[in-house]
Amino acid sequence: MDLRTDYPYWLLRHGIIRSYPSLDHHVTTDIAIMGGGISGALAAWYLVHAGFSVIVVDRRHIAMGSTAASTSLLQYEIDIPLHDLIKKVGEKKAVRSYILCRDAIRTLRGIADKLEVKDLLTIKPSLQFASYLKHIRPLQKELILRKKAGISIGWLDEKEIQEKYGFSGHGGILSEDGADCDAYQLTHSLLQKCAAWGLKVFDHTEIIKIRHEKKGVELCTGDGKKIKARKLIIACGYESQRYIPKKVQELKSTFVIVSEPHQQNKLWYKNSLIWETKTPYLYLRTTTDNRIIVGGKDISSSDPVLRDRLLPAKSKSLERSFAQLFPVIPFRTDFRWAGSFGHTKDGLPYIGIIRQRPHTHFALGLGGNGIIFSVIAAEIVCDILKGKKNEDAEIFSFDR
Ligand SMILES: Cc1cc2nc3c(=O)[nH]c(=O)nc-3n(C[C@H](O)[C@H](O)[C@H](O)COP(=O)(O)OP(=O)(O)OC[C@H]3O[C@@H](n4cnc5c(N)ncnc54)[C@H](O)[C@@H]3O)c2cc1C
Repeated sequence: MDLRTDYPYWLLRHGIIRSYPSLDHHVTTDIAIMGGGISGALAAWYLVHAGFSVIVVDRRHIAMGSTAASTSLLQYEIDIPLHDLIKKVGEKKAVRSYILCRDAIRTLRGIADKLEVKDLLTIKPSLQFASYLKHIRPLQKELILRKKAGISIGWLDEKEIQEKYGFSGHGGILSEDGADCDAYQLTHSLLQKCAAWGLKVFDHTEIIKIRHEKKGVELCTGDGKKIKARKLIIACGYESQRYIPKKVQELKSTFVIVSEPHQQNKLWYKNSLIWETKTPYLYLRTTTDNRIIVGGKDISSSDPVLRDRLLPAKSKSLERSFAQLFPVIPFRTDFRWAGSFGHTKDGLPYIGIIRQRPHTHFALGLGGNGIIFSVIAAEIVCDILKGKKNEDAEIFSFDR
């Protein structure tokens, strides 16, 4: 699959952080993880800590799939608002999903701290503003529901948005819990740390055949090497769909621009994450080198030819939207890219097992909260492999 255009900012900023050998021998392990993006790296982190012998294989270089293209906003707010999610999955599961996402931001911060790499993750608030006056009432309803769920949030009216952010919004929800990160570097840092503890990583190693056996799986690589594992984790991002008989994701394309660095390191209130209520939504974050990232303008097609052709026009359109919002902040685009983006019908990811693939667990980060969902997936899969019941697994199961 052609997951993204060639030059996302993170890749140009860091280059290939570390390259691993490809697999050139047969190997046996407790757990094999297919996919060296953020989902595979987090699963590896949990499983290596739990004492398993683990191998990660990726057919590309590490983190070169969707992870390299991610704008990496970490939000507890799922793409489906809580009041709609309640209608889809019921109050208990909807509220629990929001709480799990909030807690996963804190968990990921704890993990990032342990990696001791500068600028991996920054905690910051998140503002969701009403795109139109008519969105105020539903957003206020959403505020009440989220408050009731125990999430720390408040309302900003038009004047407060103007004072704190310098743009004119009709009103919005300001949440304390949010963060942004550098998912590309985070993935590399996780794997490097785990490699020091015994994890084996092989890049440019494609799994072309999976045999499900009585007591485990046998994976065949494109070079004819075999991996025998007691358990397999499929963390192939949007490319995981090919291993699942039922269609679980819809793919679209999304577009991103990054500004040149600004002189000042405070661009608006606490350099919050900013997004809006309309669909597709525009979203903004800043970087540690004082750039502004603006994303959105999604299209319903994931055709890479169309996506790449539209990139120049979409980046102009993102620039115009930014200028409308912040007429006084100059924005000169330094980098731009586009990527495929998978989402599900209820905004929740799929994590767990399917009948057709014994000894196999899926850790799929789908949707706008893909990174946060990867934390939840790693926790659930690790619990199950340790033989521990995970009360939340059912929320994300394939037969929900
Ligand atoms: C433009 C854009 C913006 C985004 N913004 C955000 C955001 O702000 N916040 C957020 O939380 N999420 C965001 N996302 C989503 C997020 O980036 C993804 O959810 C996340 O990167 C998925 O990580 P992954 O590890 O599951 O998949 P990937 O990073 O794609 O990794 C999967 C890996 O599996 C490997 N693989 C596939 N098949 C095989 C095989 N047969 N054998 C071996 N290896 C294989 C691939 O090479 C790949 O490296 C965004 C995505 C895009 C494209």
